[in-house]
Amino acid sequence: MFKNTSTKGQKLAQGVLDELVKAVGKEYVRTNVEELVCYSYDATSTRQRAMPDVVIKASTTEEVSAVVKVADKNNIPVYPCGARSGLSGGSIPLYGGIVLDTTRMNRILEVNTQDLMATVEPGVVTKRFQDEVAKYKLFYPPDPGSAEFSTLGGNIAECSGGMAGIKYGVTRDYVLSLEVVLPSGSVINTGRKTWRTVAGYDLTRLFVGSEGTLGVVTKITVKLIPLPATVETVLAYFKYPGDAVDAADGIILEHGVIPKTLEFVDSICIDTVRGYGGVDIPAEAKALLLVDVDGDHKIVRRDRLRVEDACKKYKAFHIIVAEDEVNRTALWQVRRVISPALFKVAGKKLNEDVCVPRSKIKEVTEAVYALAKEYSIATACFGHIGDGNVHINFLYGEGDEQQAKVDEMLDRTLEKIIALGGTITGEHGIGTAKAKYLPWEIPPLELELMKSIKRLIDPKNIMNPGKIFVS
Ligand SMILES: Cc1cc2nc3c(=O)[nH]c(=O)nc-3n(C[C@H](O)[C@H](O)[C@H](O)COP(=O)(O)OP(=O)(O)OC[C@H]3O[C@@H](n4cnc5c(N)ncnc54)[C@H](O)[C@@H]3O)c2cc1C
Repeated sequence: MFKNTSTKGQKLAQGVLDELVKAVGKEYVRTNVEELVCYSYDATSTRQRAMPDVVIKASTTEEVSAVVKVADKNNIPVYPCGARSGLSGGSIPLYGGIVLDTTRMNRILEVNTQDLMATVEPGVVTKRFQDEVAKYKLFYPPDPGSAEFSTLGGNIAECSGGMAGIKYGVTRDYVLSLEVVLPSGSVINTGRKTWRTVAGYDLTRLFVGSEGTLGVVTKITVKLIPLPATVETVLAYFKYPGDAVDAADGIILEHGVIPKTLEFVDSICIDTVRGYGGVDIPAEAKALLLVDVDGDHKIVRRDRLRVEDACKKYKAFHIIVAEDEVNRTALWQVRRVISPALFKVAGKKLNEDVCVPRSKIKEVTEAVYALAKEYSIATACFGHIGDGNVHINFLYGEGDEQQAKVDEMLDRTLEKIIALGGTITGEHGIGTAKAKYLPWEIPPLELELMKSIKRLIDPKNIMNPGKIFVS
C-alpha cells in the first residue's frame, strides 16, 4: 500500500550529509553511534529499537524545511521527535534515515494575556510552559503524566491527554493554529489565531494526533484559560471496586460535579503500592478514588462536600481530604507510585490505554480480571475513570511462554473493548505498537480515507513511515 523508503543498512551518501550540514551546521548533524543509539527507542515497554542513520537537531522552521527538502529529494525517511517519551513507538526510526530532533526549538514566543493564547515552538517542555503561563494567572490544562519532560510538539502529534481530561479535555481542545513543514519541505499555517474559525476544513485537527506522519510541527498557538483559584483533593477508600465505580458515577450524575480529576485505582495496584514510597493504605481497601475539584474557593468547598457525600453514599469506609498543596501532594503519592511499583509484581509490564463509554467500565475491568484468572497473569487497572480511560496493565515475567500469553490476552482485551464501543487507544496513539489493531477498530472505508490523506500529503511516504498503518 505504502512505498517503503527504507535506507536501513545503507550509509547516507556523503553528498547528502554535506547538504544536511549546510542546512543546520556541522555541530547539529550527529552520526556517532553512541548518540544514534539513544534515538533508536522510546519509552514503549516493548523496547522496540531501530537505528537512524543521522540525527539532526534543528533550531528554526527554515532549518526544518531545508532538512525535509533534502530528505524529499533523496527519498530518505524523516522521523520527527521531541523528548522520545512516547508509549507507542511513534518516534522510532523504523527504516533508518533522519531523526529530526525538535528539542532545540524551545522558545515560548508569546503569551498574549488579552487574547488568552500563547505561541510556542514544538520543543517547549509542557510543564515549563504551564509554569510560565501560571505567572500570568493563566492555565494550559492538558497534563500528560509526562508533562515534566515531554514536549508540546510531541503532545500535539499524539493528542496527549491526562488526568484533567474529564473537565478540561485533551490537547486538541486547546490548539488554535499550527505551522507545519510538509513532507515536500513547504511551510503551511493551519487555522487562525482566534478562538473560533469555521473557514474551510479543519486542518489543525487533522495534524493534531497525526503522530508525525503528515509533517513536522514547527510552531503552535494554543488557547489559555484563567488559572483556577484553588484545588482540593478527596481520597476515598472502598471495600469493593464496584462501589468505587458507582461512587464515580454518583459524583457526576447524582451530584452534578465534573471534577478536575477522577482517578480509580484497583485492589492489585493498592496491594502493590502499599508501603511503597511511604504510602500508607488501610488493610481492607480494595479500591480507591482520588478526586480533585478546582475553581473559586466557595465552589470548590461546595463541590468537595458533594464528592464526599457521593463517596459515603456508595460505602467509602475511609475518606481523607486535603485543602493545601502539601497535603494534596501527600495524597497524590498513592497514584504517582503506581506505575513504577507495578514492576515489582513480575518484572515486565504492558500498559494499555483503552477508553470506553463510562457505563462500560465495570464490564471492562471484570473481563480483564477473568482473563487474568484464565491465563494466570496478573492484571491491574487504574486510570481516568471519569472519562472512561482505563489503564490496563498486564504484569508478567520473562520468557516466550509468558509473552505469548500476554499477546493473546491483549488481543482478546482489545476485541472486547471494540465490541463495547470503545477505542484501543485513548492517550498513547497507534505508532507501531497498535498498528496491527487499527483495522479492528476503523472500518475499511474510513481506513482507506485516512490512507488517501496520508498519500496526498506524503506521496513518497518519507514522513515517519511504518507508523499507524501496517500496509
Ligand atoms: C512516565 C510517562 C507518563 C506518560 N503519561 C502520559 C499521559 O498521561 N497521557 C498521554 O497522553 N501520554 C503519556 N505519556 C506518553 C508520552 O509522554 C506522550 O505521548 C507525549 O506527548 C510524547 O511527547 P514527546 O515530546 O516525548 O514526543 P516523542 O515521543 O518524541 O514523539 C511522539 C510522537 O510525536 C511525533 N513528534 C514529536 N515532535 C514532533 C513535531 N515537532 N512535529 C511532528 N511530530 C512530532 C513523533 O514523530 C512521534 O510520533 C507518558 C509517557 C511516560 C514515559
